Amino acid sequence: MVSKTNSQSKRREIERQALQIVLDAGEKGILQSDLWRSLGTTSREGSRISLRLERRKLIKRVKELNEERWTYRLYAIKRSVNLDSIIDCPCLICELSDKCDEAGAVSPIKCSNFTKWLLTPFRRRSPET
Ligand code: SF4
Repeated sequence: MVSKTNSQSKRREIERQALQIVLDAGEKGILQSDLWRSLGTTSREGSRISLRLERRKLIKRVKELNEERWTYRLYAIKRSVNLDSIIDCPCLICELSDKCDEAGAVSPIKCSNFTKWLLTPFRRRSPET
């Protein structure tokens, strides 16, 4: 009998593989049927995987007519990382950062520079405004 943890880790691994396939497909996306063929799963399992990825907002499914049958084309949802919100954080250039620790003598809890930065609204810190 397969344990619950074992089956969950298998499921996560197959979802990770599925996401990688969708990511590799790039802007043209991939048909859901091609995904489950690549994964070696059934169409039913392939649909479940793509639905789970969609629920987690990792992919989007767009309905498409292919060979006279309705299916879905899958696209990865890419999230760009934006460092604007922390680019002026004093910790990034602080000479004491090696010694700074929540429980230490040098601590973000006691640091006036960090507190001041933290309490300044992002919009006022942002160079665009
Ligand atoms: S919290 Fe203060 S002391 Fe600590 S790394 Fe940031 S700026 Fe430096």
